[in-house]
Amino acid sequence: MGKYYQQEIETASRDQIITRQSELLVKQVRHAWDNLPYYRGKMEEKGVCPEDINGIDDLKKLPFITKNDLRLAYPYGFRAVPESECVRIQSTSGTTGKRVIAFYTQSDVDLWEECCARAIVAAGGTKEDVVHVSYGYGLFTGGMGLHGGSHKVGCLTLPMSSGNTERQLQFMEDLGSTILCCTPSYAQYLSEAINEKGIKNRLRLKAGIFGAEPWSEEMRRDIEAGLGIRAYDIYGLTELSGPGVAFECSQQTGMHINEDHFIAEIIDPDTEEVLPYGRKGELVFTSITKKAFPLIRYRTRDICVLNDEKCPCGRTHVKMSKPMGRSDDMLIVKGVNVFPSQIETVLLELGYSSNYQIVVDRVNLTDTIEVRVEMNANNFSDDLGMITKMENKVLQALRAMLGIGAKVSLVAPKSIQRSEGKAVRVIDRRKI
Ligand code: ADP
Ligand code: ZN
Repeated sequence: MGKYYQQEIETASRDQIITRQSELLVKQVRHAWDNLPYYRGKMEEKGVCPEDINGIDDLKKLPFITKNDLRLAYPYGFRAVPESECVRIQSTSGTTGKRVIAFYTQSDVDLWEECCARAIVAAGGTKEDVVHVSYGYGLFTGGMGLHGGSHKVGCLTLPMSSGNTERQLQFMEDLGSTILCCTPSYAQYLSEAINEKGIKNRLRLKAGIFGAEPWSEEMRRDIEAGLGIRAYDIYGLTELSGPGVAFECSQQTGMHINEDHFIAEIIDPDTEEVLPYGRKGELVFTSITKKAFPLIRYRTRDICVLNDEKCPCGRTHVKMSKPMGRSDDMLIVKGVNVFPSQIETVLLELGYSSNYQIVVDRVNLTDTIEVRVEMNANNFSDDLGMITKMENKVLQALRAMLGIGAKVSLVAPKSIQRSEGKAVRVIDRRKI
């Protein structure tokens, strides 16, 4: 097994990629027009018909689909093949509202698993590996996706699901897990538990594939040091299949988008204008191979930058930066845009762990923001004067980053509740 799962596709020339995308786009638009009355209605409203779409240059003529469209058309409105052709449904985690469900044909499942297999191989996986899948199994796509990908590569697959940390550690040690797949917050939790038990040198872990939620470079360094592995990012969303829409290669400098299945665009979220590579904006995807749930110009609300510079790994698919939060993740506090990822960067730079919580409230018509973060073994103190000094230091760094003041509370190690799936980092009491 080389370092690619599907070398011909992963290293295709730009011309080949564009030609393939154009051909598949034309077919997919026709498929949507014929089988999705909801989307056909949107196209008609915009005055576009399938004959207007002859290739990727015409993409911008097509209407967008938003999460709200999926909710309005719930549950069957975006299913484009008869139910008898579908073999699976999966559902979003509902991080930002009502869950969305997506349908899959067998070939949709296969291509999704192929995308995940590419991610595993890019992280150094071969059939000699033992892949420990601690993403949740079930409706959430994390477990099922990496599980299928691991099978395709031929790895020994441990379908651990999340939770039961004792059992996770026992299997990891007894079966010699080499690649760990889970959310970055759960990886950090497992890393703490492993170091507390002092069993790190009894493990064979070499790599981790972590995604489903935002995590910073600082958190990557923490996890890599804590577990003695290389930690790779993986991105995806249920609406497009699940994890594996994009994945990191050996360079760890952005995630290659599987452009043979998804066309990526970056738009200005306010004006909807398409932005060139290198500009920051909202990521929009068109799925060109999925049959059961073919989303065209789907607005992800994830904010990031695309980069088409040549990657030393040899892959030719464009790379996306780590999402810098979702457009709807962004908090507006005292009129200022605040992304949780900015706060995480400050905390980790100052040596705190990523166990933090942001509590936003409104008192007497004024927004308040409190950042609670755990002290850890390296900076723990129970001297109140010392704690106040440390809190002030965090406060100043936050003010420099965000431009507004925040209340900082250093709390005892392990006092913030851990999550086995996606971490809950923001508590916005203003909505309640
Ligand atoms: P939900 O929107 O309910 O969380 P999903 O479970 O399908 O639905 O999660 C998809 C979302 O998770 C993405 O749109 C993105 O915001 C986030 N996400 C997935 N992978 C990553 C990643 N590697 N880095 C940052 N965010 C990610
Ligand atoms: Zn690369």
